Amino acid sequence: MYIKKSLVNLIPAPLVKIFASPYVSGDSLEKTLKTVDSLFSEKRILSTIDLLGEAEKTKEKVLSAVLAYEKTLDEIKERNYASISIKPSQFGYYIDRSFCEKNIERILEKANNQNTLVTIDMEDIDLTDFTLELYTKLKPKYPNVGTVLQSRLYRTEKDIERLDGLKAHIRLCIGIYNVSKQYAYTRKKDMKENLLKLLRILLEKGHFVAIGTHDKLYIKKALEIIDEMKVPKEQREFQMLMGVPRDDTHKELIERGEKVRLYVPYALSWSDAIAYLRRRMIESPSITGLVLKNLLKRN
Ligand SMILES: Cc1cc2nc3c(=O)[nH]c(=O)nc-3n(C[C@H](O)[C@H](O)[C@H](O)COP(=O)(O)OP(=O)(O)OC[C@H]3O[C@@H](n4cnc5c(N)ncnc54)[C@H](O)[C@@H]3O)c2cc1C
Repeated sequence: MYIKKSLVNLIPAPLVKIFASPYVSGDSLEKTLKTVDSLFSEKRILSTIDLLGEAEKTKEKVLSAVLAYEKTLDEIKERNYASISIKPSQFGYYIDRSFCEKNIERILEKANNQNTLVTIDMEDIDLTDFTLELYTKLKPKYPNVGTVLQSRLYRTEKDIERLDGLKAHIRLCIGIYNVSKQYAYTRKKDMKENLLKLLRILLEKGHFVAIGTHDKLYIKKALEIIDEMKVPKEQREFQMLMGVPRDDTHKELIERGEKVRLYVPYALSWSDAIAYLRRRMIESPSITGLVLKNLLKRN
């Protein structure tokens, strides 16, 4: 891990910026709103806006993220095709958990008043309990809040029981953080087969599911489950990351009547975006290969 970390940190910032460009909508909210507007007006694609930043260690940084999200909420008040995604570690989890909770609630309160969806992203396994406890506590008070479940974790099937009675709003994905085999599947095929199993359980229990994958085979399998279970349209959508080349898949899904939402990250400066991509490349070395493949495809 140490070697990989130093190697990734050796890649010059301008090169990382080139890698990051397809995945980051820009270095301002204004640019992001343009992206979000054109995704919807040109392609009927919904967005969830994410301000890049995680594991913040100072209250100043946290509060500036909270303010930036408040501004984002003001801007998307009339844009019902946009939602936001937030991360507990960006909201102060590593400083003080009750401070973090207060900041999250501040955003949920504002979002709820304007009927905007907020998804609390799921981070590494140290935060799973905190995030789910917070979610089950806040969901009855703020109906517009969603969270994320990671199908690589063995515990997720059991965690679904904690959502009983909540009519939860769940983004289901394999999870980006590496976790040891003591707690998680380590083969992608197993993570994805488990995703289908969990999809059935969540749908049976009446939760809303956003299926977060770019794997065309598993999108097809998810659609088969949806058809077989006669899942109402209001109970599901498909989500993908901006920058992953899936234009045809978006189009096919939308033509079929599915909702498609892209995760649209932005940064307040390119140095934040570069730091983000470096962390991702270190955490998940397979990203490095995918990013390179993606760049080559575009050129
Ligand atoms: C909307 C959304 C939100 C997410 N939120 C979270 C979260 O809160 N917590 C969390 O842990 N994880 C989150 N993830 C990440 C997710 O868990 C996976 O790590 C990621 O989606 C890759 O898994 P996959 O199912 O697409 O399968 P993969 O096998 O990784 O990818 C399938 C194919 O898609 C393409 N692809 C995938 N990713 C990339 C990429 N970055 N660049 C280029 N091509 C790519 C490749 O062709 C690849 O072969 C989110 C993903 C999405 C789509």
